[in-house]
Amino acid sequence: MSDGLPPSNLFYQTRLRRPQLARGAGVYLWDSAGKRYLDGSSGAMVSNIGHSNPAVLAAMRRQMELSTFGYRLHFENEPAEKLATRIAGRMPEGLDRVFFVSGGSEAVESCLKLARQYAIARGQAQRWKVISRFPSYHGSTLGALGVTGMSLMSAPFAPMLRESPKIPAPTCYLDRDALTLEQRGLRYARMLREEILAQGPETVLAFIMEPVGGASTGALVAPDSYYAEIRAICDEFGILLICDEVMSGAGRTGRYLASEHWNLRPDIVALSKGFGAGYAPLGAMVADGRIAEAVIDNGGFIHGHTYAGNPLACAAGLAVLEEIDRLDLITAAEQQGQALKARLEATMERFPFIGDVRGKGLLLAFELVAERATMEPLPVGLNAHLRLVDIAYDAGLIIYSRRTRGGRIGDHFLVCPPLIVSDDQIDEIMEKLTASLESFAREAGLPVGE
Ligand code: PMP
Repeated sequence: MSDGLPPSNLFYQTRLRRPQLARGAGVYLWDSAGKRYLDGSSGAMVSNIGHSNPAVLAAMRRQMELSTFGYRLHFENEPAEKLATRIAGRMPEGLDRVFFVSGGSEAVESCLKLARQYAIARGQAQRWKVISRFPSYHGSTLGALGVTGMSLMSAPFAPMLRESPKIPAPTCYLDRDALTLEQRGLRYARMLREEILAQGPETVLAFIMEPVGGASTGALVAPDSYYAEIRAICDEFGILLICDEVMSGAGRTGRYLASEHWNLRPDIVALSKGFGAGYAPLGAMVADGRIAEAVIDNGGFIHGHTYAGNPLACAAGLAVLEEIDRLDLITAAEQQGQALKARLEATMERFPFIGDVRGKGLLLAFELVAERATMEPLPVGLNAHLRLVDIAYDAGLIIYSRRTRGGRIGDHFLVCPPLIVSDDQIDEIMEKLTASLESFAREAGLPVGE
């Protein structure tokens, strides 16, 4: 036992201790000492409809009384069927096959394996390489980690991993060249073309990306030109486009899928986080019907998890989606996202060490730098990504941060409250965040304006 941690408790990745969670309601969480926190990152961009939603809890209670488990090879179940139909009804035309899992990594694994089996079914067994981006995050299981571009997370497992070929994520905001943003977007997209040619097009199976970046890049959005070009390149070489919408899906960016902002049609989509919204471990892969049919006709999808399509998780997911529609939360994500983003941008005047504010809807982030003009990162020793989060936490505001080592993106912070966030609560986020930035600046000796 160390730090008072029971030896059997493996939930903690490090010795970092946090108070015990007592309860949650709406955008707030309380610890066991009674302290209240505004959940400014929806946990890890999960709790999209807020905590303790009565309609979801009631739906879960009703389902619990009926059944909580029936193995998927023995039974279909009504919540899973209804949820699949509801999800498919909101997907781009033709993406109508839903495969349930229990989280984001499982959803990504499913996408990779379905893509591979589709190639085999089409007589293209030589296709197996999945190109991805650096930085990126697609999950912590070995397959998903292989396509993840975060060296710190994959380094210890290098000998066990099949590391995918990576192209740079479109960090256009960091480039200091004479190109327009749209030209930069095309330049990054064409790196995919170059990588496909370098790998041998006949061996490339798929390209996977987060349409709006998550933890690894801090809500990175590419210029419009990027998305159409990526789709055209995938089509040119017969390569599947997998969109990882684990974080960006379920309305968080102001569209059901973030890819809708650009009319980008993926072939396969990974979903999780906001679909279970913290009420149940739930994820899904949604695939083009032709892909699923080809795989089923060729002997079936050789993949699946015991808890897939769990009736309780699906009942929760169904109720979450009903609440998103009833409360019009996708519109809210867009409107409140614009308001919060404008407020974050306004803080750049006072805090010259905020280098960038970015994102879509309520998937928003800011990045701290030593100098905005050059986007030079803050000294590593300041540990800004940890310190600012801790200062805000003490002030009762939860935000989410990362520093991507090895990439060009520095300390970035996701500000992603539940989609139900009110105007007053946005005020509260900004008050606590501004006070936290002031404390951090004082501690780190960074300049602050009037
Ligand atoms: N993909 C993306 C884009 C994610 O943000 C995450 C989680 N942060 C995952 C995959 C993995 O999801 P999980 O942690 O549920 O396995």
